[in-house]
Amino acid sequence: MPRQTKIIATLGPAVASEEGVRSLVDAGMDIARLNFSHGEADLHRKMVDWVRHAAGETGRVVGIMQDIQGPKLRCGEFPGGAIDLRADEEVELVPGTGEGDEDTIPVGYDSLLEDVEPGHRVVLADGMVQLEVTGAGKRGLKARVVSGGQLADHKGVAFPDSNLSVENITPKDEADLELGGKLHVDYVAASFVRTGADVEAVAALAGDAPVIAKIELAQALDNLDEIMSASFGVMVARGDLGVQLPLDRIPLIQADILYRANAAGAISVTATEMLESMTHSARPTRAEVTDVANAVMTGTDAVMLSGETAVGSYPARTVAVMARICQTIEEGTLSTRGEYPVAFVGDENQIASAVSQAATQIARNVGASTIVAFTESGSTARLISKYRPEQRIVAFTPNEGTLRRMALFWGVSPRPFERKVSTDDEMTAAAKILEEEGVASPGERVVMVAGVPPNFRASTNLVKVHQIGEAAGGLGG
Ligand code: PGA
Ligand code: MN
Repeated sequence: MPRQTKIIATLGPAVASEEGVRSLVDAGMDIARLNFSHGEADLHRKMVDWVRHAAGETGRVVGIMQDIQGPKLRCGEFPGGAIDLRADEEVELVPGTGEGDEDTIPVGYDSLLEDVEPGHRVVLADGMVQLEVTGAGKRGLKARVVSGGQLADHKGVAFPDSNLSVENITPKDEADLELGGKLHVDYVAASFVRTGADVEAVAALAGDAPVIAKIELAQALDNLDEIMSASFGVMVARGDLGVQLPLDRIPLIQADILYRANAAGAISVTATEMLESMTHSARPTRAEVTDVANAVMTGTDAVMLSGETAVGSYPARTVAVMARICQTIEEGTLSTRGEYPVAFVGDENQIASAVSQAATQIARNVGASTIVAFTESGSTARLISKYRPEQRIVAFTPNEGTLRRMALFWGVSPRPFERKVSTDDEMTAAAKILEEEGVASPGERVVMVAGVPPNFRASTNLVKVHQIGEAAGGLGG
């Protein structure tokens, strides 16, 4: 059985060459993530070429995810590059991106004074420094240092308690999305969304690429349902989420997001620090291995690597380690997986979801080891996947974009396919491919999910138990 949980790996300087990218593909990367918070357009363009080239050479299907920066707030600069903040000290936050001093911190956000109120927390440098706003100052907001530390130029600034009126899409994001469209990226990951409307605004500029909403603000958690219905999938972005909320809440939040995404038929991704120590070490910690295992056992579609592959010393090895953990846990939990905890996967297409669920039950009851889906948009494959069958899911599509998007779907092996006139012809052709590839042998039962008439979106309405070697219609052979 091939690995079912999919792996997203972030590209960066550590793999910025044809061989570097190829090593990630060989190790099992399913989706390459381009982090538009870093890197020049030219490098992103090259990365896309290298991914497509490696995929072509290896025959593997690899998708590309463009992760746009979004409205991440940063502080300005300081004399000497950093200041030291001590507990109980008083500082002033001023709008702007210029230079501050020992007790003045410029924050790149114009409406600071309107949106942030006394009592609100200010979290700096990924949680290293925390302040509490105490009132109005001469030029900005007065704040007290709650936990001190060093604050260097351009570090991140977060306001977990404030409703910021900041635009979700920055001019940089707009330009980046335009480039993404030209590069035909397969997914767009939207950073710092707060509402369903924020997601829709990104989707409007993302062309055909479905949007994965990064859940990394306290506000996004409050609006999770509307964000989920506006997006194709969600990412548990534990890095920034851990800045916004106490770390001990992250495991429960993660489990809740994964469960709700899966129940809604949305794609779920677990991200950040999964194998963090492998950035510098050839081996992960026990805790990290257990973290990846936990995400797999609680139903994530995909796990993501960030700095580990982008700037780490062992990028390909980290992907290989992650692949092994996923596969070991999948195999080890197969017999106890039982009924998937989601009773019925909600989807706009109720018929397709019901048919997909039936297919997974039939496959179990007739001892099939493969479920075949014929899909134009990929939605049939996604729905079958959401029922987490024990069988491998082979998804045939004539659509190249769909093919690459399906690389992110749990348990789905995407296969290119030529359109046929009839559903019977499609089934016969698919069975032949499986037999030729040695995926299924003569006499074996394969469950096929299709739509009649074929080649229409959202027409999934048919399940067939196909015996390999039988002729179309099941009468000959
Ligand atoms: P980032 O998003 O890596 O772009 O910050 C993921 C996260 O915050 O966890
Ligand atoms: Mn983030």
